[in-house]
Amino acid sequence: MKKILEVNNLSVSFDTFGGDVKAVRDVNFELSERETLAIVGESGSGKSVTAQSLMRLIQMPPGKFVDGSIKFDGEDIVQKSDKQMESIRGQEISMIFQDPMTSLNPTMTVGKQISESLIKHQGMSKKEAHERGVELLKLVGIPHPETRINQYPHQYSGGMRQRAMIAIALACNPKILIADEPTTALDVTIQAQIMDLMRDLKERTGTAIILITHDLGVVANAADRVAVMYGGKIVETGTSDELFYNSRHPYTWGLLGSMPKLEGGDEELQAIPGSPPDLLDPPKGCPFAARCPYAMKVCENHMPEYTELSDTQKTACWLLDERAPDVEPPESAIA
Ligand code: SF4
Ligand code: MG
Repeated sequence: MKKILEVNNLSVSFDTFGGDVKAVRDVNFELSERETLAIVGESGSGKSVTAQSLMRLIQMPPGKFVDGSIKFDGEDIVQKSDKQMESIRGQEISMIFQDPMTSLNPTMTVGKQISESLIKHQGMSKKEAHERGVELLKLVGIPHPETRINQYPHQYSGGMRQRAMIAIALACNPKILIADEPTTALDVTIQAQIMDLMRDLKERTGTAIILITHDLGVVANAADRVAVMYGGKIVETGTSDELFYNSRHPYTWGLLGSMPKLEGGDEELQAIPGSPPDLLDPPKGCPFAARCPYAMKVCENHMPEYTELSDTQKTACWLLDERAPDVEPPESAIA
């Protein structure tokens, strides 16, 4: 499949009173057509900053690109002017957010919000845009789209607002759809419906998806590949199967351990003790060292290199060094 996005050595910092917060540190990943990549991590891991960088939604200053490139269709997003970004944002790459109420306009009907970009960017007439709007609402599974299109966001349920936001994001047939915690505010049943919808849309529209989430459970069925971020770095990446059944990184094990199991019922979920590193002064070595139950002396002072475990799986952990003791994943990390 054709690669549409290549992120190379991306580093993003924020200038604060206390110094530079190094939010994203030397991040590398790719995305192909029709692929869903999940970026998973706790809050403060750099996942949202990474996503916002792809759309250049980072406010600069205080934010800045320190290093690296974001090649979209072969051209570097980092180097684009604000004007050039306007024709990429919302059209080539579009984004949906956690809380639809903050990104839907409460004073405009949903139909108007869909039509706006179609009229502005695709040169459609009002009538064409309206028809396309009805089609899009139908595509995302909103019942009675002909009526619903004339309603305001507050007349929609939470799940429907999320669907409406997806419809708006898809209006211009973007090549990439970025979804930042798209289901966090929804109850579990609706979460599952929205994830099904995204998977279905990818099949039907061909849009590649980047899914940002703190919840590894959300991505189990939805993502083709997963990148696990911690302390501004990708610590492990692989296909969903590789990370669910053959992870070799203690932080991924921790995330798996804090996930409810299908059967199993009552056993306690293991949250990972401790808190993420201070990115004003990031650790010299492995970012997870302070919380890792397997940390060795070397971990504190030296960053582990990636070990390629397959064509698709890469893991940055000293346990994979031949000199390290043998460690098996804990019971809780086994799916
Ligand atoms: Fe733990 Fe060391 Fe591996 Fe980091 S490199 S995850 S501290 S064992
Ligand atoms: Mg976030």
